[in-house]
Amino acid sequence: MEEAAAATAAYAVQESCSLDHYLSQPDHTMDERIALARARLGTDVILLGHHYQRDEVIRFADYTGDSYKLSKVAAETDAKYMIFCGVHFMAETADVLAKPWQQVILPDLNAGCSMADMAEIGQVENCWDALERAGLTGDLLPLTYMNSTAAIKAFCGENGGLVCTSSNARGAFEWAFARKSKILFLPDQHLGRNTAYAMGIPLSEMVVWDPYQINGGASTDRLRAAKVILWKGHCSVHQRFLPEHVDHIRRERPQMQVVVHPECRWEVCQKADAIGSTERIIDVIEKAPEGSSFAVGTEIHLVNRLAKRFAPLGKEIITLDDAGCLCTTMYRISPQHLAWSLENLIAGNVVNRIQVDEDVKHWARVALDRMLEVQA
Ligand code: SF4
Repeated sequence: MEEAAAATAAYAVQESCSLDHYLSQPDHTMDERIALARARLGTDVILLGHHYQRDEVIRFADYTGDSYKLSKVAAETDAKYMIFCGVHFMAETADVLAKPWQQVILPDLNAGCSMADMAEIGQVENCWDALERAGLTGDLLPLTYMNSTAAIKAFCGENGGLVCTSSNARGAFEWAFARKSKILFLPDQHLGRNTAYAMGIPLSEMVVWDPYQINGGASTDRLRAAKVILWKGHCSVHQRFLPEHVDHIRRERPQMQVVVHPECRWEVCQKADAIGSTERIIDVIEKAPEGSSFAVGTEIHLVNRLAKRFAPLGKEIITLDDAGCLCTTMYRISPQHLAWSLENLIAGNVVNRIQVDEDVKHWARVALDRMLEVQA
């Protein structure tokens, strides 16, 4: 009898902690549960929320920011559990930087990043082998944007390179050019092109490596002549902003300033008034005088939040395109997933833990430590 009762009780706990149970409940019923669980776990847990995260989730974050800021917080916190309300590569980065006794949780494992998925480690190794056969790797450093898998970060660390974010990409390029004469930039061609161009490198000295073409789709002579080899990857959110969107704003709202993220196409960035990471976009708007207006080229949750925040200060903020681009993968982190992760912790279960392989972790850490030395 006792055994049956224990089994029933165990089933009840298991059932109440199962994800299906949470997903069948409406969003608003999660608010109180999240707040209570958060209070109960206290300083054992820290919640990191990326700027593109939806409002129903980010409101519970202890820290909000871009991937650079959050990676620094991750490196400094002493919380036992880090719940990353972002995407997979961000949680991997937090695990790489975590102390041995810390655990990182991604509330929904489906929260990936289309850009990070565009550079697989096997493809990058094949590219490097081809560049080696062409006699180019001796003078080449691999750099990767934060938005890449831990394996790609490790590859860069092991081959003398580093990681950068959109805040410190220029510093990372300068760091690399102080050591070698060429850069292989992964995986975002737009950030790489925009950064190199802003440093005075002409487009003619950049070449795109397409992993689906033989020899990257470029002749050896072209690769030899290039200062920057750009991996053919992009962000599906930011690539949707077009030069026509800027032209439209210039025509219809000539007083508006256009501010865009450097993951946008080069043609869009060239037409903008300012280019910068999410932190820089916020800074530009914050410092602008009352009555200023902005058309912003970045993820729609951040744009809407900024519009709400700055409206009382007499600043108007709209999205650069007419529809607003959503990071659908980050959107997968729902209040239900967050409540499920937190309440499971209270029940003693660590769900959706992100753990990077030790060897990969070592070299990714080398590349990230080099980044933390670079000025933003
Ligand atoms: S906005 Fe783009 S780069 Fe950022 S997480 Fe989403 S898909 Fe990846």
